[in-house]
Amino acid sequence: MKAAIVTVGDEILIGQIVDTNSGYIAKALDKIGIGVYEMLSISDDRMHILSTLAFLQNRVDVVIITGGLGPTKDDITKVSLCEYFDDHLVRDEQVEAHVIELFERVTGRTASQINKDQALVPSRCKVLFNTAGTAPGMWLEKGNTVFVSLPGVPFEMKGIMETAVIPHLVEKFERPYIIHKTILTYGQGESHVAERIEEWEDSLPDFIKLAYLPSPGRVRLRLSARGTDENALKQRLAEETEKLNALIGDIIVGFEEDDTIEVVLGRLLAEKGMTIATAESCTGGRIAQMLTAAPGSSAYFKGSAVTYATSSKVAVLGIPQELIDQHSVVSSEVAEAMAKAARKVFDADYAIATTGNAGPAKGDADAEVGTVYIGIATPDTVYSEKYNLGQPREKVIERAANKGLEKIYKEILKN
Ligand code: ATP
Ligand code: MG
Repeated sequence: MKAAIVTVGDEILIGQIVDTNSGYIAKALDKIGIGVYEMLSISDDRMHILSTLAFLQNRVDVVIITGGLGPTKDDITKVSLCEYFDDHLVRDEQVEAHVIELFERVTGRTASQINKDQALVPSRCKVLFNTAGTAPGMWLEKGNTVFVSLPGVPFEMKGIMETAVIPHLVEKFERPYIIHKTILTYGQGESHVAERIEEWEDSLPDFIKLAYLPSPGRVRLRLSARGTDENALKQRLAEETEKLNALIGDIIVGFEEDDTIEVVLGRLLAEKGMTIATAESCTGGRIAQMLTAAPGSSAYFKGSAVTYATSSKVAVLGIPQELIDQHSVVSSEVAEAMAKAARKVFDADYAIATTGNAGPAKGDADAEVGTVYIGIATPDTVYSEKYNLGQPREKVIERAANKGLEKIYKEILKN
């Protein structure tokens, strides 16, 4: 089943508003197994509307159009539809009563003729009632294609999609199931992951597609299976996920759509009844922020000391000045001392510490820009690792935070 989405409106084409309707509609269609193959944005222009309708007819099964249904002269989608379907407008009494009632309720005034004319619809259309606004949606069919026209106002469009369009589509078409499975991997780049699973990827059947969704320090793998037997699809996805686990289990941290390493790590800590704290210099509290973004984090997150200045590392964490003088503030010794101190100060089981130079200029120490030491303290051990995280500043901070979480996650898994 193929669909196309058409957004009508000059505001979109001059960049005044961003088309968010298409994304919403695409997701809603995907959920019921209808694939969107094209998205078009066109002007409030008769010729462009007519030629777009003609272009899409028989090319896709469903066309969802939004915008241009208002009562003013610049909104011409409805008359263009009428022309394309060789139809004429008739008054829908139910819609007219709704327009009058809504208008009076919302504005306190009587609806004018222009407002009442919102109830004019092509005689052959199925009216899709719009409880949230005045312009109804319209369902028309020509050749092998269903055309659905909806108002452009996002919450009106959404209301009609939910209450009418999706239910009608589900009823009219037999659709395949589309099932997604997301696997979150950590610590290896997209190309590296791709190399490790190349053979498996090549062996995937046609009805399962793999997508790589990379973001700094992590790669989400999304498997999408499409078919008519829901249970068979689920079973096959589970099998393929198992194979994937055998190949790259060492970097897989989760299987849920919303899994992030900090969420998974938090879940693990909560299960074990253990806690974590951070002592952060170059990451400026980023790790603490990521950990606390998860709801329920108070169960395992004890606190963070953002000791940015060298003097704060001494005053707040009690790092000996001599240690700093001897090894430099950006050193493995200081990173380890910070991690140890964070465990103690916050009475936590695990601690992550960062000290480094995020750039662009060199700071208190001589360390190269991008050099970061990450200190890890657990109930059993304290150690650190040196990284060169490159540039620019924002990336160094992001990568350091991710590295810290990744390292502590592995430690927590051991216990
Ligand atoms: P109305 O009856 O309010 O005029 P309409 O069907 O004529 O509705 P438009 O005039 O195209 O719709 O758009 C009305 C408003 O809805 C726009 O000003 C814009 O804010 C919003 N809108 C329209 N199309 C989109 C879109 N594709 N994505 C996001 N917002 C949109
Ligand atoms: Mg309008």
